[in-house]
Amino acid sequence: MSCRRAFRLYAVLSNVDMKAHYADTGTHFLVFLGASLMKNVIVSGGAGFIGSHLIEALLDRGHNVICLDNLFTGSKKNVLPFFPNPRFEFIRHDVVAPILLEADQIYHLACPASPVHYQSNPIKTLKTSVLGTLNMLGIAKRVRARILLASTSEVYGDPRIHPQPESYFGNVNPVGPRACYDEGKRAAETLVIGYRDFNHVNVAIARIFNTYGPRMLPNDGRVVSNFICQVLRGDNLTVYGDGSQTRSFCYVSDMVAGLIRLMESDVSGPVNLGNPKEVSILELAEKVLRMIPGTGSEIVFKELPQDDPTRRKPDITLAKTLLWWQPTVELTDGLDATISYFREELRGSDG
Ligand code: NAD
Ligand code: UDP
Repeated sequence: MSCRRAFRLYAVLSNVDMKAHYADTGTHFLVFLGASLMKNVIVSGGAGFIGSHLIEALLDRGHNVICLDNLFTGSKKNVLPFFPNPRFEFIRHDVVAPILLEADQIYHLACPASPVHYQSNPIKTLKTSVLGTLNMLGIAKRVRARILLASTSEVYGDPRIHPQPESYFGNVNPVGPRACYDEGKRAAETLVIGYRDFNHVNVAIARIFNTYGPRMLPNDGRVVSNFICQVLRGDNLTVYGDGSQTRSFCYVSDMVAGLIRLMESDVSGPVNLGNPKEVSILELAEKVLRMIPGTGSEIVFKELPQDDPTRRKPDITLAKTLLWWQPTVELTDGLDATISYFREELRGSDG
């Protein structure tokens, strides 16, 4: 299609005054392309760690973004830089309650992710996972939006299969301290698939493995933020158990790229998103100590929390083959950026 014909089509479709735009057809062809790609996107949990990075990427791509967040573990500070952008809107809202909105796409991330936070009120965590997902699915059904659920590697519990493929059903204790989160996300996945099969909603499920980076909360209890902040403060670094348990850490920019890739595909999933490079928690502690030398911090061993998974590593074959996605950021580089962030944060807050 020629540039001029494409613009004429755009003008008819969007009912604009063509004469006013003919002066610079080339520019407006770009506007046409932009308009056809620009989407209205809801990000629930958008004031949190991953959500705020996701919003940044979506705004950079020219989308309109509504952030829904009750600021339980998120912060206005994370989204403050977006407020001057006319394509950004913030709504303080608890997803446990219904809300009427319009959108083309919904990224549903609202849910506390750190064990300390999600265990602080297990019933609220379950309500957020189940009722929150139900409400977001309700919007998707009503306005025919595509919805992506941020699920978790926790659906595999303490896995008996290693690495974990999506076909593995998991090993979750339904009455343990992590159950409110694990079972909540498992129920959320069931709801998503139910809405797909029963109500023809366009859905995607991302099973997110441990993700880290700037904008994690210094006190949210997750291992990367804990270790870095402990060493920066000169405190001892707390390894739970003997540190032989493993995790696989994905830098946040890789995760955001994976989430967008999944949303833009027609894949329902579940699809694992994570970095398959596995490290033990003791190795991570030693690495952080090496990267922040001279603080006098030492490793101390504390009791291992109940049901703490002994190992975790994603099988990302599906993401590689269906989405052409794989992580690119090395742990050292990601930790470096995260350490710089927390250095600034603590300088501001610790005086
Ligand atoms: P986060 O705690 O930083 O962000 C969660 C956001 O959801 C926060 O802004 C919080 O205020 C908001 N929220 C919580 N309950 C809400 C409610 N009832 N209504 C509205 N907003 C609510 O966590 P994160 O690490 O950014 O995680 C984002 C999503 O990704 C979560 O769904 C989490 O389960 C999933 N996930 C994260 C990881 C990870 O390692 N970061 C791993 C697996 C899954
Ligand atoms: N962990 C630790 N010290 C800390 C915080 C966490 O040794 O200060 C361990 C925790 O027991 C778990 C791993 O680090 O084995 C990852 O914990 P996190 O809370 O980050 O996430 P999880 O993958 O357990 O949800």
